[in-house]
Amino acid sequence: MAPSAPASVATVDALNDQAARLLGEDPHSALVLAREAEALALRLDYQRGLACAYLRAARCQFVLLDRHDGVIELLQRAVSIYELLGDLSGQAEALNLVANVHACRNDGEQALAVYHRGLALRRQLGDMVGEAGSLNNIGSVLREMGQFADALKYLLMSLELAESAHDTRATAYAMSNIGGVLAELDDRARAVEYHLRALTLVRQTPDRALEGSTLTSLGRLLMRSGQLPEAMRHLERALDITRRVGHLADTGLALLGLGLAHQQEGAYDRAERLLLEALTLIRRSHRRGAEAEVLLALGRNRWLSGAASPAVDLLSQALKLAEVLRADHISGKLHELLSQIHEQQGHAAAALRHFKEFYACQQRIHGQETQRRVRGLLGRAELERAHLQVEHERKRGDELASALGLARESERQKQELLAQLSQQADMLRQLAREDGLTGLANRRWLDAQLDRERERARRYRHGLSVAMVDIDHFKSVNDRFSHRVGDEVLRRVGRLLRDTCRSGDIVGRYGGEEFVVVLVETPLAAATAVCEKLRQRIADLDLSDIHPDLKHITVSIGVAGDAEDPVAHNLLNDADVQLYAAKQGGRNQVRSAGLGAPQAASA
Ligand code: GH3
Ligand code: MG
Ligand code: MG
Repeated sequence: MAPSAPASVATVDALNDQAARLLGEDPHSALVLAREAEALALRLDYQRGLACAYLRAARCQFVLLDRHDGVIELLQRAVSIYELLGDLSGQAEALNLVANVHACRNDGEQALAVYHRGLALRRQLGDMVGEAGSLNNIGSVLREMGQFADALKYLLMSLELAESAHDTRATAYAMSNIGGVLAELDDRARAVEYHLRALTLVRQTPDRALEGSTLTSLGRLLMRSGQLPEAMRHLERALDITRRVGHLADTGLALLGLGLAHQQEGAYDRAERLLLEALTLIRRSHRRGAEAEVLLALGRNRWLSGAASPAVDLLSQALKLAEVLRADHISGKLHELLSQIHEQQGHAAAALRHFKEFYACQQRIHGQETQRRVRGLLGRAELERAHLQVEHERKRGDELASALGLARESERQKQELLAQLSQQADMLRQLAREDGLTGLANRRWLDAQLDRERERARRYRHGLSVAMVDIDHFKSVNDRFSHRVGDEVLRRVGRLLRDTCRSGDIVGRYGGEEFVVVLVETPLAAATAVCEKLRQRIADLDLSDIHPDLKHITVSIGVAGDAEDPVAHNLLNDADVQLYAAKQGGRNQVRSAGLGAPQAASA
């Protein structure tokens, strides 16, 4: 029977997706969703959805339940369906989970074989993140088996893939596990570094389970470095998270860590309670390696609290477990402790035997071969990191250089702009003062200067005179020759005025064809004489080079001045009145206040 309603098929997919999303946070709810998906998929005979539902349910059960038989069965069904469908990705996921179950059952060899099958499929698919996951799992199993150099090799490969795939979660997993291996190898500084990096990353993902287990590892590391309060804080937090997630083994491991921390504080009763709870959970999750570790902790706790014989019983149990697992790292610790206890109790032969075993385990774990390989692997990985770092910094350097270049360029442009602006400002200042046509002071500037000079004249009792000069019949110059010729005449008159007056005098163009000369420190009589000279020179000016028919022009000049109090008088007005008089008097003449008769008008 084919899937009847596409909408329902979509519902199965949605349920499965939702289950996958919830797994890390809330496996209980995820399991409910997976079961619903399974029922619906069966009703619809939707095979792919069914396989996926089995897979999701298996994952939840694996995390939550203490019996994994049902899990394997579910996964085998899923694998068969995926095989029929030719779905390599589904097959790989199911196989990966089968291997997880083997690993938990402490069947390391079987787990490795199945992980490698999944790895091959994921490589075939080009699924980088999946491949990183398989490598990570293989590394974890090898770590549990105490094969730290091999574990590190796979974990570093996983890290590289995860980083190049930019997968935060997979990167966090690899880093956390690398940290775990380094901790086993007693490289605490590096181990803490990897754990902290893992923690930063995992907090960017919704995977609380990984956050919990990373916090546990970090807490145990800090505890070993004597940072007990910090360690406690991490372990309490880890316990809180793993309890909320409902992950049995991880909760057990957090309890183990916390138990050890209390033991270190000398709170043996509290430690005992925590360790017993840890033992229950870990036994339910079938993590034999972890079980041996909890037994080790419990044994030490009993010995420390004065119960040596029960301690030896527990440690012997643990030793059997560890030996089955061929977990040298755990066996070594057990032998070491047993050696100490026997020594204390005066059992010299037993103490020596355990010490020799302890030494042998140490040699296998930390032997020269392992050390050499670990150093090599870490060296290579860190060299690669260093290369990346150098590359990164080089790029950054280039970016900085180009940024600097840009900054320099923009600074240069800014300076240029400033220069332009200051030029413009100069120009504006000039424009504000100057008459554009003649380059003389303009009316505004002239007014300002006149005010200043009147003030100075009053204060120093200088004479001050003002002359207003107006070209006679200038309109006809424009009319007869052109405006351009008129302009040139204005310039020529302006220049003559400027050249003839003293440098301290202010010469300006007051408007059209009117000029004003402020004669500083010059009483009226002297000013009148100067003006006469000006009038004469202008009349003598030969302008035929401007236009052959334009020979001469004349000006009329009105002069005003008052030595007594120039401020009281509006000199310009007075001069204008005199100019009017000069015009009225026949032009080409100078008139000044107080001088009744016009000066001789030649021409
Ligand atoms: P008067 O002897 O009574 O002063 O006669 P005038 O023609 O000189 O006086 P009026 O005020 O009738 O004419 C002034 C002329 O000056 C009018 C205008 O065309 C000319 N003028 C004013 N400013 C400029 C200028 O910037 N350039 C030129 N070419 N002519 C100007
Ligand atoms: Mg005029
Ligand atoms: Mg005029």
